[in-house]
Amino acid sequence: MAGGATQSAEQVVNVTLRVLVDKARKKVVYAEAEKDFVDVLLSFLTLPLGTIARLVSKESNIEAVKFNSISSLYQSVSDLKEEYLWNKACKEMLIKPGNSMEAYCHQLKLNIDETEPLQYLCEYPFCRLVRNSWSIFYKQKCKCGMLFNSGPVVIDDMTCVPDGFVKETASFIIRDDLYVMPNHLRTSVCLLKKHGINDLANTEKKTLLITKKEVVDLLKLSLLSKTPITDFILKNKNFLCNSNPKFQSKIRIGKDLPSDSDEAKKNMVVILMVRKSNTKVLFATAEEDFADFLFSFLAFPLGVLQMLEGLSSLSSIDGLYRSMTELSSERY
Ligand SMILES: [Zn+2]
Repeated sequence: MAGGATQSAEQVVNVTLRVLVDKARKKVVYAEAEKDFVDVLLSFLTLPLGTIARLVSKESNIEAVKFNSISSLYQSVSDLKEEYLWNKACKEMLIKPGNSMEAYCHQLKLNIDETEPLQYLCEYPFCRLVRNSWSIFYKQKCKCGMLFNSGPVVIDDMTCVPDGFVKETASFIIRDDLYVMPNHLRTSVCLLKKHGINDLANTEKKTLLITKKEVVDLLKLSLLSKTPITDFILKNKNFLCNSNPKFQSKIRIGKDLPSDSDEAKKNMVVILMVRKSNTKVLFATAEEDFADFLFSFLAFPLGVLQMLEGLSSLSSIDGLYRSMTELSSERY
């Protein structure tokens, strides 16, 4: 799949990735890439969870996969009749959530999120035509007192658009678990050592041209595999067994909330039907507030999972997130 034939015009665009493969163990030691590829990887963290559920539910070179429960949450909103939602814009916002970093991703060489940033215009013509008032929220009140209910139209004003996330000149080393580091000799030497490689003759260098379809493959593997680059390059089919089974026992919910704080006093009522024999939840019933809370997950960007302290359970996303927090903001 990697660097394969490119049929459609859309896929002609590609970015370069160089990998060093341990020939005997059939593993990627590390990958090297420049801005174009690293920007694409970092853009994963900005994707809203609903967008990821949508992207991975489609076939790429890898079959459609499920993004844990987010996929069923996403499906439920897609299937929900509009009469249960405030208005049609609510549904649209949840199944095609806007990316708050849209301006950064817009110019990526391979931008897999094709959600167009939408805006609603004020119904008062003076506002619309002269003041150019707009909102991303349908029927929100304008400062003139009228509502933003005209549109939606695609935001085409991408003034002062930043170009991606990392600097043009920077070069990076990417570990097999997507941890991104500045490209220093000592980093590559350290990784060679870690993999027990004393002789470069035991390795093979490969240069790949990554297409948009393959970026979706990488996104899927980043959620499912601990070694996404190896699985991507060597087309491993057994990557599912790499996922983290210890996740459930590690996470503690709400441990930082002092019990007498105002935050702790706010609550939502959820009624659970539990089977006594195995304490498994059969179903839950709840009011609008809890449904709103669940649905809002779809609009959260993937990077928000850092709130789980590097325990997102998504195989390689934690590594990617950690590398981003550790890269020096001045130099890269
Ligand atoms: Zn107005």
